[in-house]
Amino acid sequence: KAKNTGKNRCLIYNKKMREGIINVVAVETDLKRGLNNGEFEAHFQPIVNLSDGSLYGFEALARWNHPERGMVSPGEFIPIAEETGLIVELGEQILDQSCSTMNEWHKQYPEYDHLNIAVNISAKQFVEASLIPKVESILKETGLPPNQLKLEITETVVMTDVVESTNRLNLLKGLGVLLSIDDFGTGYSSMSYLQKFPMDQLKIDLSFVRRMEESTENIEIVRAIINMAHSLRLRVVAEGIETERQRDLLYSLQCDYGQGYLYSKPLPKESAVELLQSMS
Ligand code: C2E
Ligand code: MG
Ligand code: MG
Ligand code: MG
Repeated sequence: KAKNTGKNRCLIYNKKMREGIINVVAVETDLKRGLNNGEFEAHFQPIVNLSDGSLYGFEALARWNHPERGMVSPGEFIPIAEETGLIVELGEQILDQSCSTMNEWHKQYPEYDHLNIAVNISAKQFVEASLIPKVESILKETGLPPNQLKLEITETVVMTDVVESTNRLNLLKGLGVLLSIDDFGTGYSSMSYLQKFPMDQLKIDLSFVRRMEESTENIEIVRAIINMAHSLRLRVVAEGIETERQRDLLYSLQCDYGQGYLYSKPLPKESAVELLQSMS
């Protein structure tokens, strides 16, 4: 009987595995088609100065405008794009759209020519040799000044191989772009490495922002992160701000910038333009 159960378990496992593989292959085929069809678009979420609520920049967030499924969120396609290597092409398209859109806005709204655009770089993109020349050529082609592009790389990715990461970050820094550690607090960082990385900014993960209201200890954790970042001369962005209380707390802790639904959800390009128009 025991043998039987084992065998069944094995069958179930194989069936699940097979379904998983079939699903990845199906999504991969669909992703390729979508990439060729230009179905991926950058949406833009405002990032504001916490001191006065003024606009500081935007983060570009990928959306899949799928012909049958409608607007698909990154949670559903980034992991498979990463697994299949298609993230390299996808990331390039988003980077290109982000830089050219920001440069357009600078020209159209000269009062906003200080705004910068943050773009997410995945693990596979980060280790790909083509990333550095690609960023360089996109900046050249779109005309965006390098210091108005910020690349967000997660803490987990930069901590995987700190020697190699330091080299790559220095090469990127050499292009004149800004660098940000994303999802800070969800992985393991050591102060000595943070100090060696040529970072400009640290983004506190939204899970910390959410937990702040639960206890004073959680507030103290956020205070410690902000103070540590400032002592390493990093600017601090808090992501996922949804309430005024969270905003007020973060401001009182001297957090520099904020991003979250309290201000705005990520917006399609046309709505982001309306936002700029309404403010100017
Ligand atoms: P992330 O870079 O940490 O981006 C922040 C996520 O938090 C976004 O989710 C954003 O919509 C969400 N968010 C912002 N404010 C709030 C809030 O107040 N409340 C809540 N609940 N959520 C908020 P999104 O757009 O679903 O993206 C998820 C993740 O997918 C991103 O996390 C990033 O890691 C990845 N991603 C998105 N676009 C790209 C891309 O173009 N390239 C790469 N490599 N990854 C991307
Ligand atoms: Mg990000
Ligand atoms: Mg983040
Ligand atoms: Mg995050």
